[in-house]
Amino acid sequence: MDGHSEAVVDLGAIRSNVTAMAQHVGNAQVMAVVKSDGYGHGLLETAAAALAGGAAWLGVGHVAEALALRAAGVTAPVLCLLAAPDAPHNDAITLGVDLSAGDASLMRQIAAAAEAVGRPARLHLKADTGMSRGGAPMARWPELVDAALAEQATGRCQIVGIWSHLACADIPGHPSVDAQLAAFRDALDLAGRAGARPAVRHLANTPALLTRPDTWFDLVRPGGGVTGLCTLPGGAPGWLRPAMTVRTHLVQVKRVAPGTGVSYGHRYVTGAETTLGLVPLGYHEGIPRAATNVAPVLVRGRRLTIAGTVCMNQCVVDAADLPIEAGDEVVLFGPGDNGEPTAQEWADLLGTLSYDIVTRFTAKIPRSYCGVTEAQVLAVRTAPASARGASDHTEVAHAGGQEV
Ligand SMILES: *Cc1c(COP(=O)(O)O)cnc(C)c1O
Repeated sequence: MDGHSEAVVDLGAIRSNVTAMAQHVGNAQVMAVVKSDGYGHGLLETAAAALAGGAAWLGVGHVAEALALRAAGVTAPVLCLLAAPDAPHNDAITLGVDLSAGDASLMRQIAAAAEAVGRPARLHLKADTGMSRGGAPMARWPELVDAALAEQATGRCQIVGIWSHLACADIPGHPSVDAQLAAFRDALDLAGRAGARPAVRHLANTPALLTRPDTWFDLVRPGGGVTGLCTLPGGAPGWLRPAMTVRTHLVQVKRVAPGTGVSYGHRYVTGAETTLGLVPLGYHEGIPRAATNVAPVLVRGRRLTIAGTVCMNQCVVDAADLPIEAGDEVVLFGPGDNGEPTAQEWADLLGTLSYDIVTRFTAKIPRSYCGVTEAQVLAVRTAPASARGASDHTEVAHAGGQEV
């Protein structure tokens, strides 16, 4: 009657995905974007596996995530993608964390923080080339560049990068990609003429990495690709491997008569005499309520569909005449090797992204790790933080006490 549920993350897949993407982009470096707890795969573990796979940089959302990486001994360059006036700039600068600035006033705040801590801030100036989210719109770009160059001249900051983000890279052929690329080139030209010499120019997310070599520049920023996922139609190519498997076990099995209503609202009614299995996961744990009567799971090698309304902590599957028992493993999604659904299939059926599927689960069910050897795990656990350098391949499983 084992109802144990878990999200199993294959760190070997993460490592090899990054290696494959690094090979794909040739001379460009890879920044593994590990925001949102590594897309739900675990910040430190995902970051360590990505570095072991050849990522030269890490990208995070907030300063707190960057500080967690530094505290774990990660020495690789880390960029905070999200900029906010009230972020702890001092801490970031002290620990050599790169910050983004998309307007001159924020940039000056960061420079003032750099003055306070006595160390230059490492800045990536962000151009809004057409996403209309963060960054300086083209009309304000010259002002941002000039202000940053003025601060650089005082020694308070260093312009390390110039960057932007694509709005429609996962819509093949969308004209905005060309328009944003042209605007980015203009922004780079203008900054160059003004005297900026950024070490890295970066624009590409996973879909751009996969489809648009002209967006690669010096550095690419895949996030989904690190975990084997992509928002392009059809998902990621076969050479990227989905790293997360979510599985649980049936907690009850029963035989019911034809015409039996199942779960809240009786949105499912059995057609014939059949066997129902009770799955101990619901929308609280991450199964979208829209998976009602829609999402497939794998039990005993057979695809079953969630029967009736997804409840808060449970749902039901109709196994027909498949001989199932309480305790049987239920795989919600995984890499697909053994016939189990993938997160991409769930996403396609539910009208959302694979990212939205995988990030739902791991806050509420335990996460475990596989895909690295016991020796690698031990080496990481016993190494002092100072020995866990960015290029140290034993860093693959900085598991922090997690089961591996
Ligand atoms: C999330 C994010 C990425 C990674 O996007 P993917 O599509 O997951 O590769 C890259 N750059 C920025 C600015 C992001 O916010």
